[in-house]
Amino acid sequence: VAALAHVPAAHAAVPPYQDPALPVVARVTDLLSRMTLDDKLGQMTQAERASVTATEMTTYRLGSVLSGGGSAPTPNTAAGWADMYDGLQRGARATPLAIPMLYGSDAVHGHNNLVGATIFPHNIGLGATRDPALVEQIGRATAEEVTATGVDWTFAPCVCVARDDRWGRTYESFGERPELASDMTTVVTGLQGTTPGGPASVLATAKHYVGDGGTTGGDDQGDTALTEAQLRAVHLPPFRAAVERGVGSVMVSYNSWNGQKLHGHRYLITDVLKGELGFSGFVVSDWNGIDQIDGAPGFTGDEVARAVNAGIDMVMVPTEWKRFITLLRGEVQAGRVSMARIDDANRRILTKKIEFGLFERPLADRSYAATVGSAEHRALARRAVAESQVLLKNQGDVLPLAPTGKIFVAGRNADDIGNQSGGWTISWQGDSGPITPGTTVLRGIRDAVGSAGTVTYSRDGTGIDPSYKVAIAVVGETPYAEGQGDRPDGLALDPADLRTVDTLRAAGVPVVVVLVSGRPLDVAAQLPGWDALLAAWLPGTEGAGVADVLFGRHHPTGKLPVSWPATATQQPVNDGDGRTPLFPYGFGLTYATTEPSPPTVPGTPVAADVTATGMTLSWAASTDDEGVTGYEVYRENGATDVLVGRPTTNALTVTGLTPGTEYSFHVVARDADGNRSAPSAPVTVTTAEDDGGPGDGRCRVSYATNDWSTGFTATITITNTGTT
Ligand code: BGC
Repeated sequence: VAALAHVPAAHAAVPPYQDPALPVVARVTDLLSRMTLDDKLGQMTQAERASVTATEMTTYRLGSVLSGGGSAPTPNTAAGWADMYDGLQRGARATPLAIPMLYGSDAVHGHNNLVGATIFPHNIGLGATRDPALVEQIGRATAEEVTATGVDWTFAPCVCVARDDRWGRTYESFGERPELASDMTTVVTGLQGTTPGGPASVLATAKHYVGDGGTTGGDDQGDTALTEAQLRAVHLPPFRAAVERGVGSVMVSYNSWNGQKLHGHRYLITDVLKGELGFSGFVVSDWNGIDQIDGAPGFTGDEVARAVNAGIDMVMVPTEWKRFITLLRGEVQAGRVSMARIDDANRRILTKKIEFGLFERPLADRSYAATVGSAEHRALARRAVAESQVLLKNQGDVLPLAPTGKIFVAGRNADDIGNQSGGWTISWQGDSGPITPGTTVLRGIRDAVGSAGTVTYSRDGTGIDPSYKVAIAVVGETPYAEGQGDRPDGLALDPADLRTVDTLRAAGVPVVVVLVSGRPLDVAAQLPGWDALLAAWLPGTEGAGVADVLFGRHHPTGKLPVSWPATATQQPVNDGDGRTPLFPYGFGLTYATTEPSPPTVPGTPVAADVTATGMTLSWAASTDDEGVTGYEVYRENGATDVLVGRPTTNALTVTGLTPGTEYSFHVVARDADGNRSAPSAPVTVTTAEDDGGPGDGRCRVSYATNDWSTGFTATITITNTGTT
């Protein structure tokens, strides 16, 4: 009777774990108390979709399924995914406790396994934007497209710090500095939403823990030979940042640290990540990662025990999941894995399933289908592409180009959606060709020129002659993923690309080289003969963003996220290591002439009308703000500010705030070209603590003076520092 006392009589039949009104911890405790060992082993197991049926989901009580790199249902449409998802979910729910499965996929630059999805620049390009608010928006857009397919969980972001560009995963990194990767963990908030379980809330994964970008020689899955102090200084900070942002899961890395594989590393997983960093989510292994613990192929019971005892909560065993369950059961029965560890792993996994609303909404939410590849998301991606371009050379101000006269375009990456998207696009390794809808760089150039001039294209440059005003060579890398992209011998330019550029140069016209690549390539020997060099990274489906920069619709703002080596073999080269790269970390030119001046908004009063959970910030436009097309309002949040909104008018209502909490905001003005003013001085306000009672609507302006007032006025000074 006591146990039921709080349950309304009409709902007495609903077990507490299914009652959304109860606290998550109470629900998990109740659920755990009802589970058999088989239920618990199933929760810790993740199978690949192509190796499991709905019936097996039921029989084996499987807790999770993934789409391995590029593995998609037929048809590969949002509806096809949702049907596949629902089928497997119904299997999972047909178990005695009806525990929903969690479906994971690598949505690492948009929902990249889905044909028709918006493909955003790979992380290396996002690092170049230096724009955490933009990256958060990309996370949000990705979450919507992922939600449309039923997928609950993405194996992103990769917060690796790439220290040697010969590594095939360099483009999955935001850059070579831990601060940059940490700043960009805003994508976690974007993916998960500010409230896990809210609309289009997708569980995120910080990966790969830890030191994946620090292996000797950039060897994928290799050894990271660093002192503990070095490991902590360079590779740990982004994980700390992701944990602080509430990331729900962390994936263990294939690399070893001083010879010991991370998949069996109890100190780093349990003591440091879960203990010291306070990570309360769950830890997932990488694909067959437990195979590698003892260095011999395949996994044994001993490796299963070592992985689970090290702190791995869910094991990605794509095809051999039945054997995994059998071995783990044996290790538990033999006492080599304790029930306490099994319960802890289950508690962590089930907490996320409940927090993210899986029990209440287990089936795919098809209402998001229209967001897949939507005009709004593509516009966001195009802006990200434009912001990610890094201008490295601009001899004689050849850029920006006028969209008039005869323009020649060449290069194998000029007209190829697959090449400009890179690996992890539709398939694991990616592929050349029209693999998914989008705008190629060439299409973007043609659209920018329109009828004002003529654009001629040939892949290898043949057909050029001196009558052309300028030639654009779009060259670089073709798709690869993981170790298949390792280049231990250095990052020389492809000979075919060099021939293309030379063909253009022979015509005697100015040559602009656009490098579509996942990392810096060696250009030192050729650069003197090129008039301009633009690093475009791997832009994804919206190649128009490259054209926006070439034709001056967006003046370059991107900054190098990695040091650019001086020779093909000058690796590793990183900021602060005393070596001299060709272009240092942070380098990036903009256009010398016709630079639109950044918007100017002099000091203006700001009023905040405060309630317990929301406030309206407003600021007056001055006569000096010509050219301002909108504003960005940021909530200050430690090292990284959170974009609250992009109003086009001088006011923004902020909602969803916690009563009795102090918030600081600042405002930035933007013009049509995306130039930003310097941030205003912050304004700090506290939401009212006594909503609804006497004093409702009051706010505390300052803790120092305990100065309460009704209504609120402060001065925000927005100054023009001349920077963009
Ligand atoms: C990669 C991970 C990825 C996983 C699932 C592994 O090969 O290392 O980054 O999340 O596959 O596709």
